[in-house]
Parts: sequence; C-alpha cells; structure tokens
Amino acid sequence: MAEQLSAEQTSQELRGVGIGLGVAQGPVARMAEPLPAPTDAPSTLSADEEKARVTDAVAAVARELEQRGAQAGGAAQEVLEAQAMMAEDPSLADEVDARLAQGRTGEWAVFDAFASFRDQLTAMGGYLGERAADLDDVAQRIIARLRGVPAPGVPDPGHPFVLVAKDLAPADTALLDLDKVLALVTTEGGPTSHTAILAREKSIVAVVGAVEATHLRDGETVIVDAAAGVVTTDPTDDDLGRARTRAETRAAAASAPVTDGALADGTPVPLLANLGNADGAADAVSLGAEGVGLFRTEFLFLSSSQAPTVEQQREAYTKLLAAFPGKKVVVRVLDAGADKPLPFLNDAHEENPALGLRGLRALRASEDILREQLTALAEADAATRGQIGGAADLWVMAPMVATVEEAKYFVDVARDYGVKTAGVMVEVPSSALLADRILEHADFASIGTNDLTQYTLAADRLLGSVASFQDPWHPAVLRLIREVGEAGRTTGKPVGICGEAAADPLLAVVLVGLGATSLSMAPTALADVRATLLEHTIDDARDIAAAALSADSAAGARSAAQEASTRRAAFAAQPNPENKGAQQ
Ligand code: PEP
Ligand code: MG
Repeated sequence: MAEQLSAEQTSQELRGVGIGLGVAQGPVARMAEPLPAPTDAPSTLSADEEKARVTDAVAAVARELEQRGAQAGGAAQEVLEAQAMMAEDPSLADEVDARLAQGRTGEWAVFDAFASFRDQLTAMGGYLGERAADLDDVAQRIIARLRGVPAPGVPDPGHPFVLVAKDLAPADTALLDLDKVLALVTTEGGPTSHTAILAREKSIVAVVGAVEATHLRDGETVIVDAAAGVVTTDPTDDDLGRARTRAETRAAAASAPVTDGALADGTPVPLLANLGNADGAADAVSLGAEGVGLFRTEFLFLSSSQAPTVEQQREAYTKLLAAFPGKKVVVRVLDAGADKPLPFLNDAHEENPALGLRGLRALRASEDILREQLTALAEADAATRGQIGGAADLWVMAPMVATVEEAKYFVDVARDYGVKTAGVMVEVPSSALLADRILEHADFASIGTNDLTQYTLAADRLLGSVASFQDPWHPAVLRLIREVGEAGRTTGKPVGICGEAAADPLLAVVLVGLGATSLSMAPTALADVRATLLEHTIDDARDIAAAALSADSAAGARSAAQEASTRRAAFAAQPNPENKGAQQ
C-alpha cells in the first residue's frame, strides 16, 4: 500500500519569488527551529546580576557579528555591522533594563523587548518590515549565549543540500559555504529581504516567500527554479533531467566567450551594466558589459542628510567615466523618493511617496541641486576627455518623467551644461503613451520596467503581498513598451531598457522584438541574456513579442513567448536554409 501511494505521488509546485535565473536540485536540509521562547518566571538573580549577564552577552554577540562581517566583506559586512549596532541599540537596552527591574530573567527581558521592537518594524512594512528578521536573529543569538547553547544556524548534513528556512538571517547568509548550499528556499521574506539581496550578490539560486515550503522534510529531493519562482517537490526523473540540462546550459553560457550583444542574424543589441557605484565597474567589464546603461547616482548618497558637494560628485563620476574609456555611460540624475528617500531633496511626510514629489519633480523643486549635479558631471567629463582609450561617451537622463513639458525642461537644463546626449526614463505610463512627443525633445529614452510595472499594475514594488502583480511580462506593460519602441523607430532615437526585465533572457528577446535597441542589467545577468539573444533572429524576436502581446496575463504572455520560441527554433532547425528568419 505504501509503495502504491508513493508510486501515485505526483510532483507539486510551491510558488514564491525567484531571485536570479538559476535552477538547482538536491536534498532538503532545514534550518534549525528557533530556540523555545523563555518563560516569564521571576529571576533567582538580582536585577544587577541579570543586567551584567545581558551586557556581556550583548557585547559578545555584537563582536561576533562584526567579526563575521569582516570575514565576509562586501554588502554582507554592512548588513552584519548594522545588526551589531541593533544589538547594542541604547533604546533597546533601556527596554531590556525596564524588564529586568521588574525581576525578570535576562533571557525573557531580551526576548520580550526585542519582540516589541520587531512588531513595530513589521507594522511599518516595506524595507523596514523586512529588517524584522534581522532583529529576531540578534535576539536569538543573545538568548542562546545567555543559555550557554549554540545559536540556531545553518545545518551541516555532511553533503550538499538545499537550505530551507523561515527567513535567513544576514549572519547566516554571509558565511554560507557555497560548495555545500545548492539553493535557498525561504518561507518568509520578499524580494528586498536580506536573503534576497545577498543571494543576488552571491549568485545563489533562491526562491523566497514560498509559504508552502514549511512542509518540506529533511532529505527529500526538490528542484529550485529561480527563473520561474517555483520549488518542485517529488520531481520525476524527467523533471530532474530537464533541470540538470538547464543548469548545464547556464553553466556553459557563463563560460562562453564574452562577445558583444547580438542576435543570431547579427543585429547588434548592446549589453550594458546597471551600476550604483564605480567600484562595480571592473566586474561589469570582465562580465562583458559594453558600457553602463544606468548609473543610479542616488545610491551614492542614500545615507547623506545633506546634498553632496560638487567636488564629492565630480570624484565619483570621474572614477566611473575613467572605468569605461570609449564606452557609452548613461548616468541618471538623482532619483529621490519612495524606496530611495534622500532627505535633502524631499523630507516632507507624504501619504503616497511613490506618487509624490520624487524623481525629476523633486530635483526641479531644488533646481540648484540638479544644476550642481550637472556641473559635476560636466567637470568629470572634461577631466576624463584625454584618458587612454578615449573619453567615455556620457549620456545623462532624468528619472520619473511624466510629461512632455518635463522632458523638454530637463533636456534644456542639461544642454546648459554641455550635455550632448540628454534623455529621459520612461517609468510612468503617461510618458510611454506620449513617447513620440517626448522623443521630439529627448535624445533617447530608457525604459525603467520596475517602476513602469508598479505604476501600470498599481502594485507597490516593495510590498510582498502584491508581488504577484509586479510582473513585467504583463501584456499591459508590454503594450506600453511597444509604444516606446515604435516611437523610437519613427523618430530614429535609441530606446534602452534598464529595469530588471532586461535581465530575464526570454523577456529580453521580447523587448528587442518590441523595439528596444540596448539592454542594461545587473552584470551577473549578462551571460544568460547574451546566450539567449544569440539563439534568435530579429524576425524571431518580433514573432515572440507578438505572441506575448496577444496574451491576457503575465503568465499567459510568458508561456506564449516560450511556445513561440520553441516553434521558431524547431522551424530554424529544418534543413531548408530559406527558413532562417523567414517564418511568419
Ligand atoms: C526602474 O524603475 O525600472 C529603474 C531602472 O529604476 P529604479 O529601479 O532605480 O527605480
Ligand atoms: Mg525607477
């Protein structure tokens, strides 16, 4: 009977949000459950004795987190140092002391004080809500130390495994042994959780927020498909074989020669990098970036309360331009607001900051800051003009442009500073619909699919509960992109894509079919996109785009594009050479 049951068992798909495009398979190892909650029984020690124990434990945990950070480096170090600061936060210490003064144990005081802070963070939602897991982790580490037991952490089953956890703490993600961890699956956490951020940075195959993964058992084999955001349980041999082939194709793409982006028929599609800091330039170049399609200048100043000086900016932009001699570098002027608050551009409380004084609107309200930024860019451009390999080709664009008048305004101001190529981002549906008029003024358009999707589907891009709406495959988004592509064709101006959509290989083909002339993405995505473009001609791309456009939903568009791609590939594989690129 048991045999019969298992023979009848069928694969199940658990859905979450995929991070990156990888696929991996292996046996599950679950993260140890959190420590049992301490009881509220009175302490047998005095309040002072408890306080001394807690102070030692907090300091030890903070030092351990800093040490792990120093070992890990990069983004992980910043995250772990932030956690160490959370551990020693004076207002949290006051809350703990208040509970100790009531005669409670150190364990309970820490547990309860951290829990109340955690609840406040969760209630705030968005980015801060996703820091709640960081706070929980700090509390667990302190309580484990008070109890003299090891802190809950990553398991070590003695073989490579798929790690399944509620939400990984940064301290665990930072030091994951990548030879052992085949993939990550979390039941909580959204696309901006630290698990997601660090998985992206380390190129770990991950699906986050897969609620049903709580049922996974240690040792069972699963397939983790980040591209589809799916974890498959009880996979068949066929499923496993297909996943293995995909993983091998990806590995081959990663080690394929780095060539300029192009379609199978030779149509060039420059592949550019999205960067937030010139430090990422060398990696981007080694991964084959042909330039920069989006330099997010606001990332340089997220922690500043005051506007950056011209000198500070000149230094940062000079470093960037110097890293790309002879290449195109598209710099976006400060994009403040909503998910990227810059207090020096707008610190007013707004009920709906995503619909508020943000992007170009905020810069226009503080035009001196915009003018200083353009001054710094002009100076950096002049400073790198004589460099070996030639000057970078500097393009400058404005974020969150919503009207033709705004486009004209920005281009006029940019020209005052000698900017030769001034363009706008298309992230708001109004500017997509009027792209032909906008391109009468702007030299180019760059479509930001992250915000364009957020505004088209009315779904906050940071909110896990509406993450399923935030899908750039949605035909409504694709229709808007087609408008911009057509405007680019009729005006003869370039239309780039710089949102996350460009990093999805098949969607990249669709975007080219809709009229995109270049694609910009996180450098780790370049190899996959390069390989997939090389499998399709421009006629394929247009046909696949038409299939996606005719769907009713994002999922429908994705599968229609997949089918069209398979059909075109089968046709192209037929011996008649006239087939190439001629199919309708
Ligand atoms: C976008 O909105 O797609 C974009 C590229 O800008 P950001 O993600 O920085 O808002
Ligand atoms: Mg944007």
